[in-house]
Amino acid sequence: MADKPEKKRERIEYPCTVNETCPECGSAERHGQRKIEDLVEDGVIDEALFPKGPTWALTLIDPAKGIVISPLAITKPKVPIMNYYWDTCVDCGHTYVNIIDFRMQELEIPKMPMQMPNQGRQSPGYLGG
Ligand SMILES: [Zn+2]
Repeated sequence: MADKPEKKRERIEYPCTVNETCPECGSAERHGQRKIEDLVEDGVIDEALFPKGPTWALTLIDPAKGIVISPLAITKPKVPIMNYYWDTCVDCGHTYVNIIDFRMQELEIPKMPMQMPNQGRQSPGYLGG
């Protein structure tokens, strides 16, 4: 069996802008982005929540390896996540991805509350008598 020539594959740098405007009609108006702007203006959502528009997150976890979460660990475990920022064109209705991003997201581990010896037992005096 002949050796195949090793094809050098370049890694893509993220974030990667796929389409700045609609690839069908060239419009920059997007439904999700517009609605997010409305909701930020009305004070319904925070501006920082959706800075690049609607997103679909793909979590790339190997189920065979899992994630080890130790409450004693110094560093937080990280999971690979790809974010697809997609939207629908206001002018022609075409749905497309505008930005693809990749990051290693740190997992927030909830802190275990310190258990006090008598915690959980309430004296009858606290029960509103
Ligand atoms: Zn369009």
